[in-house]
Amino acid sequence: MANPLFDTLFGRHAGSDAPFLILPDGAVLSYAAFLAQAARIAGHLAELGLRPGDRLAAQVAKSPEALALYAACVQAGVVFLPLNTAYTASEVTYFLKDSGAALIVCDSSARADLAQVAEDLGAQIATLDADGSGSLTDGAKGKPDSYQTAERGADDLAALLYTSGTTGRSKGAMLSQKNLLSNAEVLVDEWRFTRDDVLLHALPIFHTHGLFVATNITLAAGGAMIFLPKFDVDAVIAHLPRATSMMGVPTFYTRLLDDARFDKAAAQHMRLFTSGSAPLLAETHDRFRARTGHAILERYGMTETNMNTSNPYDGDRRAGTVGFPLPGVELKVCDPATGAELPQGEVGQLEVRGPNVFQGYWQMPEKTAEELRADGFFITGDLGLIDERGYVQIVGRGKDLIISGGYNIYPKEIELVLDDQPGVLESAVIGVPHPDFGETVVGILVAKPGQMPDEDAIMAAAAEALARFKHPRKLIVVDALPRNTMGKVQKNILRERYGDLFT
Ligand code: ATP
Ligand code: MG
Repeated sequence: MANPLFDTLFGRHAGSDAPFLILPDGAVLSYAAFLAQAARIAGHLAELGLRPGDRLAAQVAKSPEALALYAACVQAGVVFLPLNTAYTASEVTYFLKDSGAALIVCDSSARADLAQVAEDLGAQIATLDADGSGSLTDGAKGKPDSYQTAERGADDLAALLYTSGTTGRSKGAMLSQKNLLSNAEVLVDEWRFTRDDVLLHALPIFHTHGLFVATNITLAAGGAMIFLPKFDVDAVIAHLPRATSMMGVPTFYTRLLDDARFDKAAAQHMRLFTSGSAPLLAETHDRFRARTGHAILERYGMTETNMNTSNPYDGDRRAGTVGFPLPGVELKVCDPATGAELPQGEVGQLEVRGPNVFQGYWQMPEKTAEELRADGFFITGDLGLIDERGYVQIVGRGKDLIISGGYNIYPKEIELVLDDQPGVLESAVIGVPHPDFGETVVGILVAKPGQMPDEDAIMAAAAEALARFKHPRKLIVVDALPRNTMGKVQKNILRERYGDLFT
């Protein structure tokens, strides 16, 4: 095949009148119309001088045109580099410099701020606004509705996707055509997607979850997506009756559960709800099941690897676990110090190998060598275990592990206890420097609306439930936990903020 990713996900739908995107106002974009738009954009990219292998950075609102830009890049062999719309101009500058992007596509409101950087880098700049207008679509107008697909191989780069920056500076993960394609095909099978599926798509499309998991699966299955600009409870509830499936981050589900309109009837015709990108609390899983009868299917992935594990479609979807390694993916739990594989049930570093695993970090050979072993295993940075039934459980990130008085402490174990206490909405447990113990445990709590957790009672409950070395030394009640734009708790910020409590 000339371009496996394009041919398999996009090209085979050429001329199809089947619906691909269902827009909030009810308008429907067929596969044929979408592909024609992508071809016109590809024609414009070629006119701008972009060549296969060049990087195109896009910081644009979620729109059908933005998705067509992704398709256009795949067709033209251009490496797609989507950027979080929340990033400021100075943050975007880092990504542009790092990637050496040849073209920056941004909202017209950001153009003035990025023009100088673009000029300094010798990059071109084009605009694409939320309503689909801008110099990019202007340039595409009048271009042919078909484009001579660029020759690309399975190992050629399709995307440069930066990590979310939860633990430090974002790194550019180089993803090949094969990385994306293998994962999409496996997930279509695992999650039983077909052309009859209508996926409610409320995720951003600058992240692996909304762009690759949701979109590539829909394309591979030939289904449709209800394409909402963002997650909005009212809109989701309004569109749910037309959907068969939905993919979300845990906050989507807690926000739906907070709304009384979201009941069994609202979810009755749904086939599948999946969750990922951050841990889904077992409590949320249980409440969702009690309310709707659906067991949310939790899976585990990351920018560098796409999806690694999934709870089963048929069979027991176990709350608090991320299921089994996907077909073709090997997963082992290793001793962080030696790299030796640990026996079943022990907590260690998760390592994965498979066709989904990325090609390395963009221009970071040392970082790549640290995390990608010569035998192909990628050290994920997550800690976890495999339970007696083979389900993978994630206990947290290696960087969040607390070592106190020589003991390893996994924050999640303590967070589960704290979350259970009256008046506590959620918690984050961190290690902070301590003169005697090296590090000690601090619990940061968010109160339930209108309630004030009783700190003494919580300390007593923790003392009851946990070994002495795991007891929080201090509890702090805050209004909200710091989260990045993907909704992930940023413990590095908490560690900085409370780093001198004991020193
Ligand atoms: P950075 O690598 O820049 O610090 P990040 O790791 O948050 O940011 P992503 O690639 O978006 O960037 O996120 C992957 C991480 O998200 C995983 O390594 C894991 O820690 C977490 N994650 C994803 N799915 C789950 C899940 N179901 N349960 C628990 N954690 C999850
Ligand atoms: Mg990461």
